[in-house]
Amino acid sequence: MKDWGMGLGNHTVIAGPCSVESEAQIDSLCDSFAGKKQINMFRAGVWKPRTRPGNFEGLGEEALPWLKKVQDKLKIPVCIEVANTAHVEAALKHGVDVLWIGARTTVNPFSVQEIADSLAGVDIPVMVKNPINPDLALWAGAIERLHTVGIKKLAAIHRGFADPYDKIYRNKPNWNLAMQLKLELPDIEMINDPSHIGGKSEMIQEISQRALNFGMDGLMIETHPNPKEAWSDARQQVTPEELFQIIDNISFKERIDFENEIPSNLKEMRDAVDHIDQKLIDLLSDRFHLIDQIGAYKKVHKLSVYQGARWQNVLENRIALGTKKDMSEKFMKSFLVAIHDESVKRQEKQIASKSAESTIL
Ligand code: PEP
Ligand code: MN
Repeated sequence: MKDWGMGLGNHTVIAGPCSVESEAQIDSLCDSFAGKKQINMFRAGVWKPRTRPGNFEGLGEEALPWLKKVQDKLKIPVCIEVANTAHVEAALKHGVDVLWIGARTTVNPFSVQEIADSLAGVDIPVMVKNPINPDLALWAGAIERLHTVGIKKLAAIHRGFADPYDKIYRNKPNWNLAMQLKLELPDIEMINDPSHIGGKSEMIQEISQRALNFGMDGLMIETHPNPKEAWSDARQQVTPEELFQIIDNISFKERIDFENEIPSNLKEMRDAVDHIDQKLIDLLSDRFHLIDQIGAYKKVHKLSVYQGARWQNVLENRIALGTKKDMSEKFMKSFLVAIHDESVKRQEKQIASKSAESTIL
């Protein structure tokens, strides 16, 4: 997929309320954002997908004419969420510049296809939020459905994933999965939504910086003139003043064209890392070779694969060695557990096999 993407800069900031609540609210945000070059796009929720009925579900089409004021006064594009054909038609009728597909819609290929079909032949940028569950194929698939009908201006939005066991985030970030989407669709621009990831206004600064450290192209931050009174997502919205403070404190990253412009000292350091990785892999392979020899011994002598005391000893000793060398206990533990699990699996397989005992013993 070449010749696509939205052409966003790497300092993109999309700001605006979770939901449009009134014309006065939009006017107030226009006043606060006027003359602020840091804001590149205005977001607004017009139809709100709510988990249970009875909550505020957005003002709908009535709110769309007010967004025209944002376009006129701030001269920046306006984006809204669409979840079905009727939303798309209303958005196009009112001249909305950019659409986004929400997490609850991305999970459903029927809905995404319906939206894609209604956009065939329309030249409008679309941003696709990740689905609620960490399913890379579902996210990429939604982007592909839009691309197939001819939408080339596409971006992805990482808004985190539902995780019932997590106590920190509203939607836990999965940086690794977001980076995998970038590998699969290299031209895709990736926006981060720290508001829906953190769920709390005080978490937004830190999440935003992490996102930029991972090379994301921009941020979508829910902003409200008076968050405490917001009709939806009150806890996570920031005031315009807080937004500007967050932006001021963030260090945006420069983009590197990896094929042509890697600075030479960075290249040298990367070459050295490649070399060390090669040595690490050789060493691990030697270690597993010894593990296989021990496995053969255990097979002959009918010893159990798992030797609790020995494992405890190895774990404590290596963690102590690692922490002395400035590696965290958590990292050392997960590294050793991964090696041990693999060793146990190899020996179990070896012992279960019917082949003759190893000749080395
Ligand atoms: C939103 O952006 O207000 C929203 C509903 O987000 P999500 O689809 O990520 O839950
Ligand atoms: Mn919201």
